[in-house]
Amino acid sequence: METRDVLKNLREKNNLTQEELAEQIHVTRQAVSRWETGETQPNIDILKLLSQVFDVSINTLLGSPRQLICQCCGMPLNEDGLISREPDGSYNEDYCKWCYTDGKFAYQSKKSLLDFLVANMPNVPLWEFIT
Ligand SMILES: [Zn+2]
Repeated sequence: METRDVLKNLREKNNLTQEELAEQIHVTRQAVSRWETGETQPNIDILKLLSQVFDVSINTLLGSPRQLICQCCGMPLNEDGLISREPDGSYNEDYCKWCYTDGKFAYQSKKSLLDFLVANMPNVPLWEFIT
């Protein structure tokens, strides 16, 4: 799906008119209209605002051009619900919500990652993690 279709779908799902959406993110109704016809694309600052208004990741707004993967544990982030968030509520699309929470990494070091894995998976051989 292209950005223009994603935006239109999200706006309609949230029961917003072009006018109402424009007001929320401080642009003109014409700007919203141009995004939805595909004439122009919102810039990165606007995408961040739209991400907050609709509570979806920027990757989703762009029509999911990237396969997001957690840079820490390698988990595929196929749904926005799996993506970590910054303390202000915006998405951090580099990490899953387990590895990165409230602006902090769950594992400060490889040792704490090991401790966590060992504590939670007692039946998994330790050497699988020491590579
Ligand atoms: Zn992760």
